[in-house]
Amino acid sequence: MTYCGRFAPSPTGLLHFGSLVAAVGSWLCARHAGGRWLLRVEDIDPPREVAGSAQAILAALPAFGLPADGPALFQSRRTAAYDAAFARLRADGQVFPCWCSRSDLAAVGGMHRDGRCVAAPDASREPAWRLRAPDLDVAFEDALQGPQRQNLRESAGDFVIRRVEGLYSYQLACVVDDAHQGITEVVRGNDLLDSTPRQIWLQRLLGLPTPAYRHLPLALDAEGRKLSKSTRAHPVDPSDPMPALRRALAFLGLPAQAEPRDPASLLAGALADFDPRRLPHCSARSAA
Ligand code: GLU
Repeated sequence: MTYCGRFAPSPTGLLHFGSLVAAVGSWLCARHAGGRWLLRVEDIDPPREVAGSAQAILAALPAFGLPADGPALFQSRRTAAYDAAFARLRADGQVFPCWCSRSDLAAVGGMHRDGRCVAAPDASREPAWRLRAPDLDVAFEDALQGPQRQNLRESAGDFVIRRVEGLYSYQLACVVDDAHQGITEVVRGNDLLDSTPRQIWLQRLLGLPTPAYRHLPLALDAEGRKLSKSTRAHPVDPSDPMPALRRALAFLGLPAQAEPRDPASLLAGALADFDPRRLPHCSARSAA
């Protein structure tokens, strides 16, 4: 099977250092394997979207020497595929409508378990739809973080698959699209490690293949928090790509190279030395 990797940004802000690390890490793994590298814009949450950021991220990637193998897939155009997956889960009795609010759940420890709702059904308003979380351990081997195991009932509980507004959740859209794009290895930030068992469970329910997983260390700010768009981390500057690209490669443990003057040759040099098994696995503070 040909290796196929991906970078799947959410358009909630400009490309920042943490997402550049995920893009470079997944790109290096794909190129090292002689495989393909695809893009997916995870624009399924309009309230969180920042206008223009999808186009800005897509335009920034080639400036950092990271052109993709084909056009990006936009999740906002994939509703029919999510509807079909949802219909299958519903027909199989795996999802149930739920009117519980966050404060309803706070009263019972914050998690929805065993399909048991606190709030009564209310025909006058739309429900959210939750997937039943069985009392089952999902285990997988992360290529970087080692063996993982999570009990779905204890750790995730019955999780939302479709929100009250009719929007599908990240977990469902991600699983449907990783399969649709033929992704064989998911390389992404470590903050998503604990989403992976839910995604593997959904793959099993939907009869989809489970890719390999490699969760990269996170870039943290000076206070040890994740550098993310939501904490307004500084965007990286595509008009001056070399400094951020050098920092991203150093963050991924690759030796500094003095010579290259453009992103493509810097990445080619990094690739020549690259071994995915030598990527660092601990999150680290970054000056970005
Ligand atoms: N869209 C997610 C983000 O920007 C990444 C999802 C994934 O790689 O599975 O954080």
